[in-house]
Amino acid sequence: MEVFETFSPGKTFELAKNFGSKAGKGEIIALNGDLGVGKTLFTQGFAAGLGITEPISSPTFTILQVYDSGRLPFYHFDVYRIGDPEEMDEIGFEEYIFGEGVSIVEWAELIDELIPDEAIRITIEKEPEKGFDYRRITVL
Ligand code: ADP
Ligand code: MG
Repeated sequence: MEVFETFSPGKTFELAKNFGSKAGKGEIIALNGDLGVGKTLFTQGFAAGLGITEPISSPTFTILQVYDSGRLPFYHFDVYRIGDPEEMDEIGFEEYIFGEGVSIVEWAELIDELIPDEAIRITIEKEPEKGFDYRRITVL
């Protein structure tokens, strides 16, 4: 386990960019944390590290966005609106995550049974006593 602390959105972006720059084929990141902690911001930094040039939007209403402009294909899932993990079959979740690209799943805990053991689990948390922009980022 590794714990990082950031005190600004920019620092979270930089940390995530570093992860993205080191990511290899087939890497899966299960990203957890409450609404507004910085999961999408982390994803944007990670994508920058993969060399993706397009803007990364919040895919809440689409579940999946695919980006092909980086060093590896990048699959950004946001499963917040999933009602039943079986819905993931319909979009071909396994074909993506076990494919050649790199995947990040926001709200992964909602589909925990579908997240493989080898996934990197990252949780972002606030701690109000440490300031509004403080985040603790735990990597398992
Ligand atoms: P989520 O996807 O988890 O719902 P977002 O990434 O959309 O969250 O939003 C995170 C918000 O928190 C952004 O407005 C960002 O600027 C803000 N923020 C403040 N401090 C930090 C920090 N240290 N790390 C990440 N985000 C931060
Ligand atoms: Mg988000």
